[in-house]
Amino acid sequence: MIRPILIHPDPRLKSRATEIGTPDAEMRALASDMLDTMYDAPGIGLAAPQIGVMKRLFVMDCVKEEGVEPRPMALIDPVIEWSSDEMNTYEEGCLSIPDQYGDVERPAEVEVSWTDLDGARQRERFAGLWATCAQHEIDHLDGKLFIDYLKPMRRQMITRKMQKMKREQARA
Ligand SMILES: [Zn+2]
Repeated sequence: MIRPILIHPDPRLKSRATEIGTPDAEMRALASDMLDTMYDAPGIGLAAPQIGVMKRLFVMDCVKEEGVEPRPMALIDPVIEWSSDEMNTYEEGCLSIPDQYGDVERPAEVEVSWTDLDGARQRERFAGLWATCAQHEIDHLDGKLFIDYLKPMRRQMITRKMQKMKREQARA
């Protein structure tokens, strides 16, 4: 089931989400809805607060190559266990901030632990786009957006554009 995605500014996108612990059937259904919503958007990552659920869960699939099997992942209570000193800059976007992009510098590789949908703890090292995406999504669980890394002028400009877009949508 596709869920509506919250658009910045929204207080739920600025709040810290709470730990889940062992996932139940409801949490598995939520992860499934989030993957549907992410692929439909389309996007490569989506965090639960973006659909108004203040729980520490995000989904991602950064496979972009033609002919390569998709790799849908759902990460519950993710923790960044290690970050590389080497940094990487990607032009990031966000499903909650449509059509706005900005360069963000983050560690090039991260090792993340998380609980999977069966309740088992997993751990994996991510690089490239996967590393950027995982850090962007974990930021969402802490109420942080990619525009928070941009210069204040640019952040304010994007926020004003989003406010205007939401006003126009509300009128339509
Ligand atoms: Zn985002």
